[in-house]
Amino acid sequence: MDVSTIAAIATPSGPGGIGIIRISGPEALKILGCLFRPRRSDLRSGEGGIRDWESHRLYYGQITDPRDGATIDEALVAFMMAPRSYTREDVVEIQVHGGPVGLRTILDLVVRSGARLAEPGEFTRRAFLNGRIDLSQAEAVIDLIQSRTTSGLKMATAQLGGEMRRCIEGLRKTLREILVEIEVGIDFPEEVDQEHLENDLSNRLRDQVRIPLSDMIERFEHGRILREGFRLGVIGRPNVGKSSLMNRLLDEDRVIVTEIPGTTRDAVEEQILFYGVPVIITDTAGLQTSFDPVEQIGMQKTREVIARADGILFVVDGSQPLKESDWVIFEQVPPEKTLVVVNKIDKRTGRDPWPIPDSWKGVPVVEISALYNRQLDTLKRTIAGMATDGCVGEIEHGLIPNLRHQGAMKNANEAITRAEEDVRQGQPMELVAISIEESLSFLGQILGIEIREDLLEDIFNRFCIGK
Ligand code: GDP
Repeated sequence: MDVSTIAAIATPSGPGGIGIIRISGPEALKILGCLFRPRRSDLRSGEGGIRDWESHRLYYGQITDPRDGATIDEALVAFMMAPRSYTREDVVEIQVHGGPVGLRTILDLVVRSGARLAEPGEFTRRAFLNGRIDLSQAEAVIDLIQSRTTSGLKMATAQLGGEMRRCIEGLRKTLREILVEIEVGIDFPEEVDQEHLENDLSNRLRDQVRIPLSDMIERFEHGRILREGFRLGVIGRPNVGKSSLMNRLLDEDRVIVTEIPGTTRDAVEEQILFYGVPVIITDTAGLQTSFDPVEQIGMQKTREVIARADGILFVVDGSQPLKESDWVIFEQVPPEKTLVVVNKIDKRTGRDPWPIPDSWKGVPVVEISALYNRQLDTLKRTIAGMATDGCVGEIEHGLIPNLRHQGAMKNANEAITRAEEDVRQGQPMELVAISIEESLSFLGQILGIEIREDLLEDIFNRFCIGK
């Protein structure tokens, strides 16, 4: 294990109100002693003096260049004595004014005094290697930093709190108990009722491992939506009311609404919450500028929106018969991710529903008036339902795996399925045990037990420096 002392600027680059330099490792305190002059006269600086200070307390003073004693900046410093620190090593944090030049000068002094520059994610990697957090918690740190939605943040916080670990440890414990039973059955066959053992094994593998794992695997897609938002594309020919609808959905006047086709100019992306589901709406910006669906460019833009979107609102004008361009667009949309929004129903006379063409049947339709705010709630609920396969409200609860966890869970489940199959076919118990052990090992990968070095590399490479 690497025992060097590492250092990095932990705050974002560029000017800021405050900047933090973080140092971790056995030399952290010694380095602080070389650079820091405490204000309080009763505190001695230098390595020996600093050792007497209290851990987890802030000290005020100055950072000076040990070569000539010149003052670089005022600072508040804290040191967190091992093992009560982020990395479980001695950690020092130096808070100074947030200018990039000052921060780099101090980092340079820290390196001259014996630290080396930290690699991206190296602090969190040490926290993992020193056993303070498991790998799913380390991944939660990066999810937390990068979360784009409040629900993504909630998920990351739960994972950082160890929910994934507790769940996986629970499954692993069950598998280990099953292995013990199998071993007893192998070692003392005369004392165990084989038929009972086989039934019990199959039931436990199915109910206590395979089904809970399958549930989690299925939740993966929801996790992506909670983390990144459900990308909703709004398409339709000019003047059907797309901009008006966007404004209604956003409850803000961000997009220009006009009677002249072709005035929605910039790409617009907004995040909103519909019944707890984060939705990102992308307008067909630019589409209107020269939109003629028969024209190449118009069709190309429509295809781009369709390709990027998780769901599509295809807006038509319910106050007029469909036009050829509506038909051309409809031919492009994948029915399984499309919702037809019939707008301007306020202009319709009579109570008959909008006549859906036969060939459009099967695609859900919602009739609204963007201008008069009619049926907008129904539309929002339908969109939330589309994003979550109808489980609105359920998806914020429960553990949601990331892509790596999902892969390991699938492998674990395949091994369990094999074990169940072997039990059913009356295969030797030794064979069943091998599959269960495989499954244990796949689940262990989620927590970082038995994980390959290159996979660790991949995970921590996603981090920023200083974390
Ligand atoms: P876009 O080109 O598809 O973005 O359409 P706009 O949102 O710019 O709307 C075109 C025109 O239709 C504007 O004059 C809107 O006021 C009008 N409009 C939009 N929605 C409705 C609606 O629900 N009812 C009525 N009567 N007019 C609407």
